[in-house]
Amino acid sequence: MFRKIKGQSQVIGLLQSAIEQERIAQAYLFHGSDGVGKFMTALYFGMALNCLSSSEYRPCGVCASCHKFLSFQHPDFIYLFPTVNLKLSSDGEIRDNEALKQYEAYLKNKIETPWQEFFFTGSTEIRKESMSQLIQRLELSIHEGQYRVVIIENADMMNTQTANAFLKTLEEPPHNTLIVMITERLPQLLPTIISRCQPVYFKPLSQRVIQDILFERFQVDSVLAKSAARISGGNLKTAIRIAQDSSSSSRDKAFDLIQMAAKKQDLEYLNQVKSRRDSADAIRDLIAYLGIIANDLCVTQYCLQEITNLDKSELLESLSHEQIADRIPDYLLLLDDLTRKLEGNVNPTLIQIKLFLATKYLLSP
Ligand SMILES: [Zn+2]
Repeated sequence: MFRKIKGQSQVIGLLQSAIEQERIAQAYLFHGSDGVGKFMTALYFGMALNCLSSSEYRPCGVCASCHKFLSFQHPDFIYLFPTVNLKLSSDGEIRDNEALKQYEAYLKNKIETPWQEFFFTGSTEIRKESMSQLIQRLELSIHEGQYRVVIIENADMMNTQTANAFLKTLEEPPHNTLIVMITERLPQLLPTIISRCQPVYFKPLSQRVIQDILFERFQVDSVLAKSAARISGGNLKTAIRIAQDSSSSSRDKAFDLIQMAAKKQDLEYLNQVKSRRDSADAIRDLIAYLGIIANDLCVTQYCLQEITNLDKSELLESLSHEQIADRIPDYLLLLDDLTRKLEGNVNPTLIQIKLFLATKYLLSP
């Protein structure tokens, strides 16, 4: 099943040789940006250590143990992640009904559609009570597996007090227990935590890998896969979100904007923006697409085959003209600037108007 994890062959090689040589560190720290396979690798690593198959390709994904891991039902699998206040009882039961619903929805999403973001309503952290529960459970013996597997997601999201409580466990971890901490923000972890773990770096996925995953596993057509991969910045989750956002696709919106700007339809555009009320995420994707289209407009002039939006080559050819290449650098700078402003909570309508005006200037003969 390790073969299902694409683009991280170095990491997989390292973990597989640790398994073969039976030299498993007691705690690992998987770090690297979001959407590059850290959680899945941690889960498969734990599965491999408990897999009942005699084949050399472990985890097999089909034995009883693997099944329990994949559905998060294995009694020796403990998964800790940032939550809202669950109002845990002393024996670990969630007493807040609304929080319980969200907790279950989070797990369902993580198991079935892990590439989708899940947002709790309310601020989240790895709570001291959840950590105390974990520490208590680690004092008990293992149920049925070879190894107990603990995955702590977004490990940076615990306060110093909680981290210190866990430090004692990291100093003297119980036998046959694999702890994998996962973070996108390594510098935010306490140095005392980092120094007690074996760090494993996950690099961003290459465009090629993302494109192949979108095409093979999500049946995204090759043109869309190529552009989604290109603007995802190596984050598979972002690429999937963009590729699946087909009903009101950011790509279509970007081409709409391009066409309206070319025809100088200012008022129509403004009305559309007002009625659509796009989210910040949607505008961010729109800006990213405009960047790709701008690049295509430039490339169109000398090598039509190299453009990303091949299906729009006729339109791009009709819009491209000599001055565009000179104007593109400023245009791209403006796109960057608008993305930053979006994060700084500048009015989204204002940002879309600036986008339109800049695009109109870019395309004007
Ligand atoms: Zn198995």
